[in-house]
Amino acid sequence: MSSLNTPPVVDSLDTLLPPEPLLMMGAGPVPIPARVAQANSIVINHLGETMARVIEQMKAMARYVFQTASPWVLGVAGPGSAAMEMSVCNLVRPGTRVLSVVNGYFSRRLGEMSQRVGGVVEYLEMPEGQSASAEAVRAALLRHRPEVLTIVQGETSSTLLTSELPAICRLAREHGCYVIVDAVCTLSTMPLLMDEWCIDAVVTGGQKGLASIPGVSLIAFSERAWQRIESRPVEPAQWCLDAKLAANFWHNASYHYTAPVSGILALHEALHLICQETLPERFERHLRCSLALQRGIEGMGLALYAAPAARLNSVVGVRAPAGVDRRQVCSHISRKYRVEISGSFGLDIVRIGQMGEQCREHHLFRTLHALGQTMKDLGAAVDVPTGVAELERELQRQA
Ligand SMILES: *Cc1c(COP(=O)(O)O)cnc(C)c1O
Repeated sequence: MSSLNTPPVVDSLDTLLPPEPLLMMGAGPVPIPARVAQANSIVINHLGETMARVIEQMKAMARYVFQTASPWVLGVAGPGSAAMEMSVCNLVRPGTRVLSVVNGYFSRRLGEMSQRVGGVVEYLEMPEGQSASAEAVRAALLRHRPEVLTIVQGETSSTLLTSELPAICRLAREHGCYVIVDAVCTLSTMPLLMDEWCIDAVVTGGQKGLASIPGVSLIAFSERAWQRIESRPVEPAQWCLDAKLAANFWHNASYHYTAPVSGILALHEALHLICQETLPERFERHLRCSLALQRGIEGMGLALYAAPAARLNSVVGVRAPAGVDRRQVCSHISRKYRVEISGSFGLDIVRIGQMGEQCREHHLFRTLHALGQTMKDLGAAVDVPTGVAELERELQRQA
């Protein structure tokens, strides 16, 4: 029995951490560039002049990444889910009619969050393996007449892409709807044009597409959404997530809560790296790497989960071969090959991330080899040399 009079004896972090770092190739968090790691080790005054300049630059860079001219970019101390909740609790009020498009775990979460703040939510549930079409959304808009629509660009859980997102968002705007888009895993890995597509709130986290640390997230509201926030009849119950209070810090250099300074500096560096690379180059790199990895996986004789038309490139779902337990795949590849990949929320798949630093050629070869060897070790018939050759061939073809 432990006593409160004696401190517990615990292991040092050196003992807990693996002797050789794992290559983080799961659905997030993703590896962080050295500049991001360095920035994350610094603490400065959260209300000083340096921080004010950092924030100004971050907003400018974030507007580029979100592709919006709206000034209403804010940061959040919290996971991607906190940014999701911030979008919801500032736009959905008790009685607000919400249409929540669902094709996986995270899209459903947006609907649940809307219900918790009193929204009247209709779920547009897609059949397994499918993303919403504009036609399906049009019918649901006419049926339910929502004021707010929630949707996910890349459903990390089911590895599905909402390829008709631009048409869906424009359609929702035509019906007078405010559109909330979760771009946690996709932002800066593939095109998202907030203004052109008529999106009212885009949310993202740090640890996925942006290749920063978990725990500091970003959100952008359209001018139109900001007017709704400004003219609201009641204040939201969520004090920390109140966008108007958050604007004190993000737009007036004053106090809301103590900002997560190190994480903000890390995110500043991550955004700076994106701006230096430029979005078109970054999208190109992500597409090239993910497609090559997909060819390699198939070349080994493994099957991808999502059909090509609905396939998300930022997170690739691989079916577990017959007789192989997906949980064993994840633990074996981690223990034996020092590569971390993700299991799933219910589906019989494993997931490999293609976000940020995960999209580097040397990481692809190591990951594909480790995946193939793992499947072999677990008794599946896979052809590792052919898969690796396909990966190389595809990379050369696209070079
Ligand atoms: C990871 C993820 C989230 C949740 O982010 P957390 O940081 O885990 O809260 C939400 N949506 C999508 C699409 C994600 O991939």
